[in-house]
Amino acid sequence: MPVGYRCCVSCRRTAHRSQFWRIVRNNGDRIVTLDYGMGRSAYLCPTEACLRLAQKKKRLERSLRTSVDPAIYDQLFQRLESPLI
Ligand SMILES: [Zn+2]
Repeated sequence: MPVGYRCCVSCRRTAHRSQFWRIVRNNGDRIVTLDYGMGRSAYLCPTEACLRLAQKKKRLERSLRTSVDPAIYDQLFQRLESPLI
């Protein structure tokens, strides 16, 4: 994969990481955050289909090897409704 390219955890599409939401399990406290953070990361297309699939199949949990707070999914669903946030 070219430098800076990542793979969506739901549909396995590859694209530059700027095209994806980044979900991070931070080193140390293992808190899961969006966009920023240092640690293990998962990438997801900013689409309802990929978000729903990730939630249903627990793709983020599997990729990050931790539980993901429902609030994280809520925030992402909100982003679908207001993409500028
Ligand atoms: Zn995807």
